[in-house]
Amino acid sequence: MRIDILTVVPELLESPLSHSIVGRAIKKGLVEIHVHNIRKYGLGPHKSVDDYCYGGDAGMVMMVEPVFKMINELTEQRHYDEIIYMSPDGELLSQGIANELSLKENIIILCGHYKGIDHRIREHLITREISIGDYVLSGGEIPAAVVADSIVRLIPGALTDETSALSDSFQDDLLSPPVYTRPAEFNGWKVPDVLLSGNPKLIQAWQDEQALERTKELRPHLLSKKF
Ligand code: SAH
Repeated sequence: MRIDILTVVPELLESPLSHSIVGRAIKKGLVEIHVHNIRKYGLGPHKSVDDYCYGGDAGMVMMVEPVFKMINELTEQRHYDEIIYMSPDGELLSQGIANELSLKENIIILCGHYKGIDHRIREHLITREISIGDYVLSGGEIPAAVVADSIVRLIPGALTDETSALSDSFQDDLLSPPVYTRPAEFNGWKVPDVLLSGNPKLIQAWQDEQALERTKELRPHLLSKKF
């Protein structure tokens, strides 16, 4: 899989993409992530990428031409399954969307900045718009890193214990059961006895029950999808 991220602040993406599970998946060759600076196609002596907003609103808007040229450079080289724009008014990111995107071959993720991008890019070039929640951030870089992380950890081989992605929250519209590690007792706080029983059937039944209980309590809307 290949992910191309387009941004005017590439520095913001360096750390989230070079460590932990995503960093290891890149090193293992499971995914290529290329970060492109849109300023490469900036206009004039200062390589400008933004301009004043028509209509006199405060704030700057990312111009069509640099983004158009950056996207063109990539689409001339290969087919992209999706050209995604990170946007607060896009469809809300979910585990279902992450699953779907993890099956794609090549995707572009465009990060907005300032007041956003000239709407004509969204109308003519973007195939999908994704939001990471109903709040506004300064740029699309952190949202793009969130999307990339949610996708990459689903690629077979990215997690050392592959089954652990399957038991994550949302994967089957249930939240994950609580997890514990050693010691069995700390400060008088005990790990539930059943987990120490060594009986896989009992443990599974307890985990299923916990997952259901937690989902009922914390995300009841997931259950209406399930039953
Ligand atoms: N004026 C815009 C917000 C611009 S914020 C509006 O009111 O909708 C600048 C950029 O940050 C956006 O172009 C988008 O790429 C990114 N961004 C901000 N919040 C986001 C969110 N919740 N999800 C995804 N991207 C977001």
